[in-house]
Amino acid sequence: MSTLEKKRDEINRKRRISRSKINGKYAEYSAHYRRECLEKSKASQAAHRAIKSGKIARPNNCEKCKKKCKPDAHHESYKKEDWLNVIFLCRSCHRLRHVELNNQI
Ligand SMILES: [Zn+2]
Ligand SMILES: [Zn+2]
Repeated sequence: MSTLEKKRDEINRKRRISRSKINGKYAEYSAHYRRECLEKSKASQAAHRAIKSGKIARPNNCEKCKKKCKPDAHHESYKKEDWLNVIFLCRSCHRLRHVELNNQI
């Protein structure tokens, strides 16, 4: 596919999305999802900054299974006051925790 075609494709895709947003529920969901995504990335950026600057110490093991690793900072809440409120989980515990959180809804 040429670059031009790709661009056209991209535009068409965007058009389709914005059209489908017009009908109520999806638009609502998508706005909610976007907001959540934004909060999420802000929260993780804040946590990473804090880790880099030494404000938060990253342990050398997972807080849950105690496996030795370079654990991920996980947020139980993405509210601004909880941005630096992280727990450190290895990749598998982290993934599992998100599955648990998803299932709570
Ligand atoms: Zn773990
Ligand atoms: Zn997480």
